[in-house]
Amino acid sequence: MKKIVVLPGDGIGLEIIAEAKKIITVLQEHYGFVAEIEEAYIGGAGYDHAGHPFPEETKVLAQAADAILLGAVGGPQYEALPRELRPERGLLAIRSELDLFSNLRPALLYEELANASSLKPEIVSNLDIMIVRELTGGIYFGEPRGIRTLENGEREGYNTLVYKESEIERIAHSAFAIAIKRDKRLCSVDKANVLEVSELWREVMIRVGKDYPEVELSHMYVDNAAMQLVKDPKQFDVMVTKNLFGDVLSDAAAMLTGSIGMLPSASLDSHGKGMYEPIHGSAPDIAGKGIANPLATILSVSMMLRYSLDNIDLADRVEAAVKSVLKKGLRTADIYEQGTTQVGTVEMGDAVVAELLR
Ligand code: NAD
Repeated sequence: MKKIVVLPGDGIGLEIIAEAKKIITVLQEHYGFVAEIEEAYIGGAGYDHAGHPFPEETKVLAQAADAILLGAVGGPQYEALPRELRPERGLLAIRSELDLFSNLRPALLYEELANASSLKPEIVSNLDIMIVRELTGGIYFGEPRGIRTLENGEREGYNTLVYKESEIERIAHSAFAIAIKRDKRLCSVDKANVLEVSELWREVMIRVGKDYPEVELSHMYVDNAAMQLVKDPKQFDVMVTKNLFGDVLSDAAAMLTGSIGMLPSASLDSHGKGMYEPIHGSAPDIAGKGIANPLATILSVSMMLRYSLDNIDLADRVEAAVKSVLKKGLRTADIYEQGTTQVGTVEMGDAVVAELLR
C-alpha cells in the first residue's frame, strides 16, 4: 500500500493541510484511493515537539514514504533560534536527506483568474507551464567558494559552477518523463554560448532525448527565455534548467499567474518519490484567521497523485473540482475581485469536496 506522510508545519500550514486532508479522505471513501496516511512534525512544530526542525521520527517516516505532503514552515517566534534550529533548516534537511534533486514548479493560470496577472489576460489566460529546476547541484553548492583577500588588499568573492554528466542526465530523465505526461514539448534553458557547463548540459540533454523520441526537444539561452516568458509564455510546455536559472525563471513564471496562494510544487528523487507543497510560506500575517487560500495545497495533492502515486485520473478530477469552484465564483481573499463571492479557508475546502462528490 502507498504511504503518504503529511507534514503540516507552521502558521497557515495547519489550516491548509486540514483542507487537503479532507480531499484525500473523499478520494479514499468515494474513489477507491488506497493509501496509508501518517502525520509528523517539521519546522517550528518539529522544534516545539522534539527540539529539532527535522526530528528523527519525521525522518524515519519520510524515508519510508512514497510521497510527502507539506504545508509550510516558519514564523516570527522562531527567528531568534540559532540558524541550525530554524524551521527553514528542516526543509533543507528533508530535501537533502531524500535526495530530492528535481524541482517541479508549475505556472498555471485558470481562465477565471486571468485578471490577477500583471500581464494582459489574453497573454496568460489558461497558461500552463512546468519548470523543472535542478535543485541539489550547480553554483549554489559548487566548491571552492568564499571571499578572499587579494595581494593588493582588495577582497574577491567566488563561487564555482559545476555539473557532472550524471547530475545532468538524471534531471534530463526527470524532465523528459514529465514532458511525456504533458504536451510532449521540452525546452532546455542554458547559456551554452558562454558557459562550458552549459555546453555539456546541452550535449547531455540531446543524448538523453534520444531515449524519448516522442518528446520534441528545443534549446533556448536563458536571457531569451526570460524575455519569452514575459512576451509569450504560452509557447512553453515544460522547461528544464539548472539550479540558478531555475530559481529566477520559476519565480518569474509563478508571478505571471498573480497569486501565490494557487501554486503547488514538487521535489522528486530519481525513483519518483516526492515531496509536494504549496510555493508559499507560512504566512504569519494571516495565520489563524481562517482566510488562507488552501487551493495551492489541494493542487499539491493533485500533483502528488500524478507524479508519485501514478493516479492521473484522480489528479485530473481534483484539478477539475478546483476549476469548477473557481468557475462558480468562489474566491479566498487573496484572489477576490468584484463580482465574485469571498469565502474562507474551510468553505473553500468544503466547496472542492462538494465538487468531488457531485
Ligand atoms: P509567505 O509566502 O508566507 O507570505 C507572503 C504573502 O503572501 C503574505 O502576505 C501572505 O499572507 C500571503 N500568502 C501566502 N500564502 C497565502 C495563502 N495560501 N493564501 C493567502 N495569502 C497567502 O512569505 P513570507 O511572509 O516571506 O514568509 C513567512 C514565513 O514563511 C517565513 O518564516 C519564511 O521563512 C517562511 N517560508 C516558508 C516557505 C516554505 O515552507 N516552503 C516558503 C517561503 C517562506
